Amino acid sequence: MVRAGSSQPPYPVEVRRDAGSETMEIAWSDGHLSRYPWAYLRGWCPCAGCQGHGSTRRFVPVKNARLERVFAVGRYALSLRWEDGHETGIYSYAYLRELCPCCGTNQEARE
Ligand SMILES: [Zn+2]
Ligand SMILES: [Zn+2]
Repeated sequence: MVRAGSSQPPYPVEVRRDAGSETMEIAWSDGHLSRYPWAYLRGWCPCAGCQGHGSTRRFVPVKNARLERVFAVGRYALSLRWEDGHETGIYSYAYLRELCPCCGTNQEARE
C-alpha cells in the first residue's frame, strides 16, 4: 500500500465507469489515477458471499463481469452493482487504493 505521507488518506474525487474499455476509473484527491478492469474488481469483491469466511482475501474469477452502477456509501466506500444483480460488495476507499493495479500490491491478479 502506498502512503502519500499526509494524515488525510486519499479519497476519490471522480469515479468513472467506462463501458468502452470495461474499466472503472478513480481520480484520487492526491492526484493519483487508478484504472480497474471490471473483471479484476469483481474478482476482488470483498463481500462474504464471494470471500467466504477465510482471513485472507482471494481473487475469485467471475466470467463476464459487467459493472452496472457505482454508488457512494457514506464517505468511506463505494458499492458496486453488477449486471448479474450482485451488489453486496462494499469497497472501502482504502481497499480500492490497495487494489490499484498500477500500485502493485496484488500483482498476481494483474492481467
Ligand atoms: Zn461479492
Ligand atoms: Zn496506482
